[in-house]
Amino acid sequence: MATPDPILSLPPGLEAAKSEVLPPLINIKPINWFFDLNRAMSLWPVTFGLACCAIEMMSVSMARFDMARFGAEVFRPSIRQADLMMVTGTVTRKLAPTVVRLYEQMPAPKYVMACGNCAISGGPFKFEGQYGVVEGVDQLLPVDVYVPGCPPRPEAILEGLFFIQEKLTSRRWWPKPQELPPDPAPAAKGKK
Ligand code: SF4
Repeated sequence: MATPDPILSLPPGLEAAKSEVLPPLINIKPINWFFDLNRAMSLWPVTFGLACCAIEMMSVSMARFDMARFGAEVFRPSIRQADLMMVTGTVTRKLAPTVVRLYEQMPAPKYVMACGNCAISGGPFKFEGQYGVVEGVDQLLPVDVYVPGCPPRPEAILEGLFFIQEKLTSRRWWPKPQELPPDPAPAAKGKK
């Protein structure tokens, strides 16, 4: 019989803690639903930016676009406290192992937003013969939502967040963007 690996096996006292999940102390369905909904709507993104798209991510959290209105304001400096990775920028081959390591360190459930054309497909760095850029972060991680643009507008990043919230709760909670009225004719624009 093979000797158990001392590094991988738990000490005897921890076996029960590993396998036992206690029921909640208070198990009232409407209250559980309320807490679950709040958890689903308050995603915590990791403070993580790779290139110029990260500027748009920063602006989403600032006063004008104010992501906090939609529940996801708490950018975490530690990956272990985050459940949303917004990949904002170019993923180089050199950085790819680090991106994967960070994703693996996030506690589950966790979500990934590919933000901008670089994260989606390599963007402007995708050309024949290039050797330094990963052509889509979905080659490394499971992506939940793709937000196109070079860079995407902050409103588009908010739409990506709404999509993940909808994915979690099966419902869109925020109004849909309104269509703009038709552009007035150029001649009418010049008239006073
Ligand atoms: S998609 Fe455009 S704006 Fe975003 S990181 Fe790439 S080059 Fe920069």
